[in-house]
Amino acid sequence: LDIKFLGGANEVGRSGFLLRGKKSILLDYGVKVEGNTEYPLQAGRIDLCILSHAHLDHSGYVPSIYRSSFPPTLGTIPTLKLAELLIEDSFKLNRDRHEKPPFFRREIKSFTERYLPRDYGNEIQLDDYTVTLHDAGHIAGSAIAKIENKKGRRIAYTGDFKLSEQLLQKGAEKVEADVLIIESTYATSEHPPRQQLIKGFIEDVKEVLDSGGIALVPVFAVGRAQELLAILCDNGLIDRTYLDGMAKAATEIASAYPEFIHNNDLLQRAMKGASWIEFPNQRRSALRGGTIILTTSGMLNGGPVVNYITKLNKNSKIFLTGYQVEGTNGRRLLENKPLLIDNRKISIKTPVSFNDFSAHAGKEDLHRYIKASKAHTVICVHGSMDNTTALAQSLREEGLEAYAPNVGDVLKLDFD
Ligand SMILES: [Zn+2]
Ligand SMILES: [Zn+2]
Repeated sequence: LDIKFLGGANEVGRSGFLLRGKKSILLDYGVKVEGNTEYPLQAGRIDLCILSHAHLDHSGYVPSIYRSSFPPTLGTIPTLKLAELLIEDSFKLNRDRHEKPPFFRREIKSFTERYLPRDYGNEIQLDDYTVTLHDAGHIAGSAIAKIENKKGRRIAYTGDFKLSEQLLQKGAEKVEADVLIIESTYATSEHPPRQQLIKGFIEDVKEVLDSGGIALVPVFAVGRAQELLAILCDNGLIDRTYLDGMAKAATEIASAYPEFIHNNDLLQRAMKGASWIEFPNQRRSALRGGTIILTTSGMLNGGPVVNYITKLNKNSKIFLTGYQVEGTNGRRLLENKPLLIDNRKISIKTPVSFNDFSAHAGKEDLHRYIKASKAHTVICVHGSMDNTTALAQSLREEGLEAYAPNVGDVLKLDFD
């Protein structure tokens, strides 16, 4: 058995890992969305695709495999529904920009028709392999995949995961494996303790509300929007909260599968308590002040957030809630540079704060997870080169076999 790295190796984005043995199994097939869209290398003929979760850097290129073949794609049901939402959206965006689409509508249809939804813990059999999905604690439906052969040898692929609990996610299940393919996004840094982060965030938001300002909270549609909605509800601020943009559709989908949501009743209360913006004229009441506006896109590169950002009163504040990729408006905002909106440069005077509500494991949790997996071989992917190499290096010092491969590399695995 060997594994070819089609993308997402020494980089974040366009994840795609191809296991080639008796059967070919593709682990994720995503796109790099920020800046110029980038695609993974071609996968060739495959027998099964396993989708870890809905985010486009994992799912965005899966329909392209249905150009010439029709293998099943295995994942949870929320992953399918949320991926459909994001893929449709990126498909439309492509068309609006007059870019050549990477696949056609009929291929999206084949993907959804050939999808094999499975709950955590349910096995599927593929020739000599048994595949199971386990909770990854990252977003609704996110999964860690375990592939076991007849001799009981196991490969696990984490996708994106978070070990510690969030309000709406229980945290990743520890899966034992011989070979572990693990994300490395935050292999060299720690996230602030969640309780402390929430406390500071809520205090800041309250201060803005008390002074009649607007708390503008840009969020990623899938995952972050629901978590922030739950945090605001849990802290008694939901009646001040407006929800706008694709965050609404994503929240509706996520909440339709309560078995994949921790504290689902909190999410239900949050959805009932918040004001949903259905028509553009409702935005005026959201902008009257003393309000919280939760909206997409999370990096301010489009969506309703760009309409709001130029209309905030002087007591307002912008609360970024996740990592801002180089070249995005969010990053420009953090660096005090003018934003690019409809090809115009616009300077924003509103103060900005950065709140690290990451849904990824930090350094210590990555090590904890690897230890619990009892893996002897660890492959570090989904991270900048600094992060993957640092993680692989520290694991080698502990006596493990560890790799930080590049895109295009092939690694032979002792698996049969
Ligand atoms: Zn993700
Ligand atoms: Zn990812």
